Order: sequence, then structure tokens, then C-alpha cells
Amino acid sequence: MANNYKRILLKISGEALLGTQGHGIDGDILTQYADEIKAAHDENYEVSVVVGGGNIFRGVKGATEGMDRVQGDYMGMLATMINSMALQDALERKGVHTRLMSAIRMEEIAEPYIRRRAIRHLEKGRVVIFGAGTGNPYFTTDTAASLRAIEVEADVILKGTRVDGIFDSDPEENPDAEKFQTITGEEVLDRRLSIMDLTAFTLCRENETPIIVFNMNVVGNLKKVLAGEENIGSTVV
Ligand code: UDP
Repeated sequence: MANNYKRILLKISGEALLGTQGHGIDGDILTQYADEIKAAHDENYEVSVVVGGGNIFRGVKGATEGMDRVQGDYMGMLATMINSMALQDALERKGVHTRLMSAIRMEEIAEPYIRRRAIRHLEKGRVVIFGAGTGNPYFTTDTAASLRAIEVEADVILKGTRVDGIFDSDPEENPDAEKFQTITGEEVLDRRLSIMDLTAFTLCRENETPIIVFNMNVVGNLKKVLAGEENIGSTVV
């Protein structure tokens, strides 16, 4: 099954950037991810990326420790900017032209997010990184990924994780967990499989944007997913 995607949105969690480290950003993981993105870009895919911030800060966690939730969420959004800037740097070092667009204005370091400009950048072959989530507290970067994917009319959302796809139970806890090659959105909901938060998932469903969950930590996987190779990742249709 060859996929016919042209414009893609890749979601990378902040936590994945931890790699083997306890905090911050693992340089090796960053380089590996930049290689994966470059490989897709070299194949003429129009690539946009949303990076999470969970390796640095999460508003919900701050709130459990007494912090004002909105303040914490803005800190989380700024955390995504740190990760996004690191990824931008890693890509540019490899000769990939990029643009970082922020949902919160910070013009010295990133362009403000303007949908039409984002689309233009993609058409011109620049990798566009969407930073600062949706710009609103109480949301997640998964929701930012869904929202931006719909806005720029991406053909698919690729959710890069550390597991091979969507399983009927947690593969990190149950060695007999079975992976779905494809699964309907309805079944994801019925089985209460948590692949994204509900807001993000609903946005994708309402706008018929397919989601592919795949293992971003296996070298070459992004290209394989895009080529539609069997048994790589799980697709929500
Ligand atoms: N965040 C937010 N609004 C958004 C996106 C993110 O308030 O639109 C905040 C929220 O506090 C979140 C943090 O930024 O916990 C980091 O994002 P997320 O938890 O989605 O990162 P990931 O889990 O992908 O590392």
C-alpha cells in the first residue's frame, strides 16, 4: 500500500527528546530526528513539525504543585519553543531550510504564526516548525498538531512515539499486546486507546485527517511510514 501523501505534519513529544538523559535535550536524539526529517524532506515531502515541551515543563504538573495553571501552561508553551529552536538548529546544520513560527509573538527568534505564510513556506520547500503550541492554555501540543495540520491542509499527522504503533494494550506493560495495522477512529474511542487527547483526536476525526502512530526512535522509520511500508506504525482511518 503506497501512501500518496505530499504535505505532512510530524508530531514529536518533548519527552522523546530526553533520550537517555534525566532532563533537557539529548543531542544524539535531536540529530537522529533531524536526519529523519531531512530524509523525508529530501524525498520532496512538504514537512511541518510540532514539538512538545514535556521534557522541560508541563502546566498540569505545575498545577498539582500549587502553581497557577495558566502560568504553568504558558511556561509549557515556552518550553516547546526551546525544543523547537533546538530542532531548527539541528536541521539547519544539515543544510535544511527551516522556518520557526510561534503561536506567541517573539519576533526576535521566530516568525508569528500566519497560516498563509506557513503554507507558502511549505510550498517553497522549507521545513516549518510550529512552536508555542496553540498559544492557548489548557491545550496540548497534540491539539496544536491537529489544529495546524488541518489549517495547512496536511494530508496526514504522523505521531512519532517510542512504541511501534497502536496496540490493544500498553506494549510497555503487556508483552502480548497486539498491534493494529489500521484502526477506525470509532474503535480507538470504543477501546479507550489513548493515542492523543480527546480534543486533538476529535479535531482530526471531524476533518478526516488520518493519523499514523509509529516508532520515531527506529532509524529510517519516518521514510518507511511515508512510503506505506507494511507493518510500520498504525493508521487511524
Ligand atoms: N501547552 C499549552 N497549550 C498548548 C500546547 C501546550 O498550554 O496549546 C502547555 C501545557 O502546559 C503542556 C506543555 O505546554 O503541558 C507542554 O506540551 P505537551 O505536554 O503537549 O508536550 P509533550 O507531551 O508532547 O511533550
